[in-house]
Amino acid sequence: MIDFEIPDNIANLRNALHWMMKEKVRPHCIQADIDAKYPQSFYDDFGPMAAAMSPGGGGKGKKKDSGGSMGMPEASALMAVVVGEELGWGDPTMALNMPGPGTGGPALAARGTEEQKEKYFGMLKGGGAKWAAYGLTEPGAGSDVAHIRTTCHKEGDEWVLNGTKCFISNGAKAEWTLVFATIDAKLGHAGQRVFIVEKGTPGLTIGKIENKMGFRASETAEMVFDNCRIPAENLLGGEDAHQKGGKEGFKTAMEFFDTSRPMVGILAIGIARAAYEELDQWVKDNYWLDRPIPRYAALRDRLNDMQRKLDAGRLLCWKAAWMADNKISNTKEASMAKMYGPGLAMEICSEAVRIMGAHGTLKGHLVEKLYRDIKVFDIFEGTHQIQQTIIAKHMFTDVAMKTA
Ligand SMILES: Cc1cc2nc3c(=O)[nH]c(=O)nc-3n(C[C@H](O)[C@H](O)[C@H](O)COP(=O)(O)OP(=O)(O)OC[C@H]3O[C@@H](n4cnc5c(N)ncnc54)[C@H](O)[C@@H]3O)c2cc1C
Repeated sequence: MIDFEIPDNIANLRNALHWMMKEKVRPHCIQADIDAKYPQSFYDDFGPMAAAMSPGGGGKGKKKDSGGSMGMPEASALMAVVVGEELGWGDPTMALNMPGPGTGGPALAARGTEEQKEKYFGMLKGGGAKWAAYGLTEPGAGSDVAHIRTTCHKEGDEWVLNGTKCFISNGAKAEWTLVFATIDAKLGHAGQRVFIVEKGTPGLTIGKIENKMGFRASETAEMVFDNCRIPAENLLGGEDAHQKGGKEGFKTAMEFFDTSRPMVGILAIGIARAAYEELDQWVKDNYWLDRPIPRYAALRDRLNDMQRKLDAGRLLCWKAAWMADNKISNTKEASMAKMYGPGLAMEICSEAVRIMGAHGTLKGHLVEKLYRDIKVFDIFEGTHQIQQTIIAKHMFTDVAMKTA
């Protein structure tokens, strides 16, 4: 059965978040872009909302969380994408600025031991805004996740980490970060381990904070590990998870992508919708589209084209999320959503600036900011080219399975 109705609890959350974005975020987003941050006091407003969405999925007494809920309790992947569109619409940096486990949440929810979930989700509750982070990328390993070079080796009841992570969202302020390392690079995926590293652990230093062209109000940091000692119990999932000789660390990274990619896709749809709405209003203020002037007809057709593609992009994200909630393998659909959303948003943002002419290039104009913000969405969580590779691989595997 196909059902496009959004359940009341999700619709209510979406409406509340839209209100917050419109009233509390939009008025500050241009200044935050210039300053490359929101002021700390700003996050006080997010306390109640962040608490409502705070993690615990899979925690004691709760049903196991596949990670599809992005770490939200009693939530679903569908909820995450419906809500995510509003974050992208309000200010896409809010997807990472929202206090809580953020990118660290899904993997901890899906792979952490009960003790780890209780301790580290608990650490983020109360006492003001707190964040977590996800540390996979390295200077020599972005798309090529198999080639991470940060090492880990065990000494007594501690693990020792050495290496550098880069472009880590919220890495500088995170209470804890999930850090990917390898016991032996030659083992490839099988050698990978994931550790929960707490802020302030000796041997961990924060390197440079990146100065980006867009998505500026989201902080992106370098993290350096120099003989950084981690208690043995901070190995994600515990030692037992690695006894089977499987690829737990690598699976953690991949599982995260199956849930985060539809989210990135829908954030991009939110950005595209924001640019579309700005353009739509601007066109209505400046033209009478019902007049039989060829240029006006072209503008009307262009807006119409954008709206149709926005609907298609949204449905791709909803489908990938629905599959995650129903425990249906969604790697191909997650990649399709991730590939389509940012591509479409780049097209719409670029068109919005073009149609608005010089006006659209002015600092202080939302479309000027969105035009710069959108580019990173085509890069993180797997670039456009990487999604193409994944989709192609699954297309041919699926065909092979059907014809076997
Ligand atoms: C704002 C921002 C926030 C981020 N946050 C995080 C975070 O919180 N945690 C984290 O771990 N990382 C984070 N990243 C890093 C991000 O995940 C990587 O930048 C991304 O995986 C791409 O890696 P790369 O930059 O090293 O590019 P590369 O992998 O070097 O790619 C460069 C180019 O080569 C192409 N390419 C690479 N391999 C192939 C291939 N096999 N076939 C065809 N083309 C290929 C790519 O498509 C791209 O065009 C963030 C990045 C940004 C910009």
